[in-house]
Amino acid sequence: MKLRLKKKNSAKSPKIQKIQEYSNLRLWNHLYSKGDVAQILENSDSSSYATILKILWNKNKDQIPQARIRWFFKPKDIYSNTEMFSQNELFDSNFIQNIDVTAIYGKAKVLSLDEYLSHTEGDNIFFTRAKWNIKTKELKPPVQKWKKVCNCNQIYNPDRDYEKCMKCKRLFHKECIGWKEGIVCGDCEG
Ligand SMILES: [Zn+2]
Ligand SMILES: [Zn+2]
Repeated sequence: MKLRLKKKNSAKSPKIQKIQEYSNLRLWNHLYSKGDVAQILENSDSSSYATILKILWNKNKDQIPQARIRWFFKPKDIYSNTEMFSQNELFDSNFIQNIDVTAIYGKAKVLSLDEYLSHTEGDNIFFTRAKWNIKTKELKPPVQKWKKVCNCNQIYNPDRDYEKCMKCKRLFHKECIGWKEGIVCGDCEG
């Protein structure tokens, strides 16, 4: 992720600050509140997502209101090979910045994987199952501890097609079992 957004000038002088916190923000025809996930314009060809933590504005100065946000990372921000991840997968993080609210241009939802699997249709719906620590450069929980499926022992990716073993309910890639239906896996066949 190339973050070209301006960092807030941290006022180091002990002057009285008139920065006030607001509970929500109306931009175009959307109302944003703390805790909402916003779509943020980074460059012309891609958008990024972040949770709004605070909405700040110094009324007395002719300044653009600021949003304190916590970024979501995309798999491609971290890994060179992102094949195993879902198109709708994001990683929460501990990367917090202040940005001009004018960079916000839409709403999104980031669900847990379970919520995502049962969600109804909608735009800009993502899921997260791990958090990226920008200091230690580690995902928590690490990928090695994520749920694995199939005989090929890959992480579960909701974008792929699966067949459940009728007995143990384990998931197998349809591709890996030759697109058969109503399967009983090798372990259960005994
Ligand atoms: Zn497989
Ligand atoms: Zn089975």
